[in-house]
Amino acid sequence: MRIKGYVENKQPILYRTFSGALEKGVVTHSYLLLGEAGIPLKEVALYLAKSLLCDHPHPLADEECVYCQRIENGDYPDLVILDGENQSIKKDDVLDLVSDFQKTPLEKKGIMIYIVNLVENMTVEAVNSLLKFLEEPTPNTYAILTSQNEAKVLPTIVSRCQSIRLRLSPIYEVIQEAIELGVAQDDAEILANFYNDGSLVKEQAQNAAYQSAKKSADAFFDALNQGFDYGRYIMEKAITPVISAREAGKSGARFFFDVLVLFFQDICRKKVGDEIKLTSYAKLIDDLANKLPHPEQSLLKIMTARGDIDRNVNMGLLLIHVANIITKE
Ligand SMILES: [Zn+2]
Repeated sequence: MRIKGYVENKQPILYRTFSGALEKGVVTHSYLLLGEAGIPLKEVALYLAKSLLCDHPHPLADEECVYCQRIENGDYPDLVILDGENQSIKKDDVLDLVSDFQKTPLEKKGIMIYIVNLVENMTVEAVNSLLKFLEEPTPNTYAILTSQNEAKVLPTIVSRCQSIRLRLSPIYEVIQEAIELGVAQDDAEILANFYNDGSLVKEQAQNAAYQSAKKSADAFFDALNQGFDYGRYIMEKAITPVISAREAGKSGARFFFDVLVLFFQDICRKKVGDEIKLTSYAKLIDDLANKLPHPEQSLLKIMTARGDIDRNVNMGLLLIHVANIITKE
């Protein structure tokens, strides 16, 4: 991910704050990056970690030296990431981290860094263990925390960190940027909801898991528009084998559900006469708004089902369940 240009061009406050601290040698022990959904918080946190370890920072990481490369590849033992994106962070995860950080650094740089992505998704016990650790920072140890929801982060965590709020670009601006970079309009309109930058949208648009999920969603909505029975049939026979294939992993399923949610949000908007967002699907959304009796109920259930992806449920059954929700309301 080309995050260097993103930080330089789109996040001027973060860029100035962090590069200034690095140049003056006054980097704080713990940072809290705050930003709304769509802002690549984890990638930015990783970029700051690279900047602390880079061999040739100017002033932030070059993303080229061996340290930057190793971090990118998840091959740097003195950097640990606890990620709350898809499941909550537990007390044991924090205790493992603390015990790792009580040992001496393995690398000759002598710097240890941990990233906690989405601190709001920690259990209470995990937060309490982390607090103790944050209170007594060991030398040459840095914490980079992120959150999409500051209101859900304990004030005691916030007060121990230097908070930096990241800027959210307006969605129409991101769509325009992506289209100028050669991304198709439908992809730009979908992906700009999840990636708040034109070049990040472009990168994801080329992702095979996304393209396959989007093709599946297109096929499902087209079939649904032809008839509810046909929609269920296509979900079972054509889509389930693709999305639930072991080699597809979970990212394809997440993309598929994300596109489903965006569609249903627009179908609900259309039903009450609001402006839709996926303008490249206007006709299909209009047709479905006329045919689906209770899209708002389906939307809630689809969102619940999306949460089940990480509970190791049978993906095939989950997809058929979703088709039934939509067609049998
Ligand atoms: Zn580097």
